[in-house]
Amino acid sequence: MSLREKLLPDYDRGLDLEGFSGDRLADRLSAIAEIGLTTEAGSCRPGYSQAERQAKDLVCDWMREAGLAVRRDAAGNCFGRLAGRNDHLSVILCGSHIDTVPNGGHFDGVLGVLLALETVEMWKATGFEPERPYEIVIFSEEEGSSFNVGCVGSSAVAGAPLTGQLGRVSDHEGRSFASAVEEVGLSLADFPAARRDLSQIAAFVEVHIEQGLVLERHGLPVGIVNGICGLAALDVTVTGQAGHAGTTPMNYRRDALVAASRIVTAISELPGQISETAVATVGQLKVSPNGSNVVPGKVRFSVDIRDVANEPLERLVTRIVEAAAGIAAASGLGLSWSRTFSQPAIAVDPRLKTLQAEAMRALNLAAFEMPSGAGHDAMILGAHVPMAMFFVRSKDGISHNPLEFSSLNDCAIAARALSRFLARLVSNTD
Ligand SMILES: [Zn+2]
Repeated sequence: MSLREKLLPDYDRGLDLEGFSGDRLADRLSAIAEIGLTTEAGSCRPGYSQAERQAKDLVCDWMREAGLAVRRDAAGNCFGRLAGRNDHLSVILCGSHIDTVPNGGHFDGVLGVLLALETVEMWKATGFEPERPYEIVIFSEEEGSSFNVGCVGSSAVAGAPLTGQLGRVSDHEGRSFASAVEEVGLSLADFPAARRDLSQIAAFVEVHIEQGLVLERHGLPVGIVNGICGLAALDVTVTGQAGHAGTTPMNYRRDALVAASRIVTAISELPGQISETAVATVGQLKVSPNGSNVVPGKVRFSVDIRDVANEPLERLVTRIVEAAAGIAAASGLGLSWSRTFSQPAIAVDPRLKTLQAEAMRALNLAAFEMPSGAGHDAMILGAHVPMAMFFVRSKDGISHNPLEFSSLNDCAIAARALSRFLARLVSNTD
């Protein structure tokens, strides 16, 4: 069954409003889904693969048909530009990516690209003309599924110095990144030329599927992202004394796993004391010597800590370290820790968030705000220019999986909220 056949039966044609066409969007989602279709009905379009290139080419054809000036930059990012009446003004940029994880879904990234284009179709149908220029972007290689480096295209646009790192990486077949990009007609040495003058980008807007359960649990089709979570990763080791499980009395033990389990419990209770949006996860635990008849002498574990703002995130890191040290000391055990990764939180521009809320309320929708726990191209651009994101409800919260699904009704509502919001942005000549 094609994606189109899955989307259309439940579609409410009463949502074909303001130039939006459910048929057109279903056709396009379905056509992209056919490129790199896996035997499990998922999508396989790794960054800089022929499949990603083919999908970009197809969207570029649609952008040309919509009257946009299309170009590809040195990092393979594709742009479709709609001139503004005041075309010298800085541009409103909107889009996402079209690459996928190896057996991914049909909405991650693609929906954001197609809704950026649907906005142009809707403006054309209703005779709306922007004051500012408007550009659609398809960023290259967001997922980082082959070379373990994500957001490559958006980072190139933002001027990140990528060529050194990318010059050293290769995929699981030993193919270098440089040779992979040559196969799609690009040269890694040219990547720095993709850098844009960021003062000429007034705002970046991205629509993305939520990839979680929050909107579904709230019964809402679309949410406003109020920030992209920052991340701190810790590597913690609790050191006690290994011993014989039969001959070491309980009161003489220095059991690292018992202390670690108390620390894990404390970590699960701390985020709620800091903020509503903070989360902390212990996902990896290495017990030494890891024998069924040995008292654990050492436990090493990971802590993944996220929040939508940097100040509470740092406070949570401090509280977790203090709690761990306190529990270890009370048990007479040693504790060491190091911070292995830091990614600052990216805020959403408050003025943009207000305009997003107005667009939602104009459609009688709740202006529901939520953080993004995952990184996106908007995280890269948002470090430099005002950024806004909409999330679209994901069925059962499933993503990076062939079962990933968002209903066409939800996509239609997102398209209408997006086009209203963008119309405000491209009308503002300040
Ligand atoms: Zn994505």
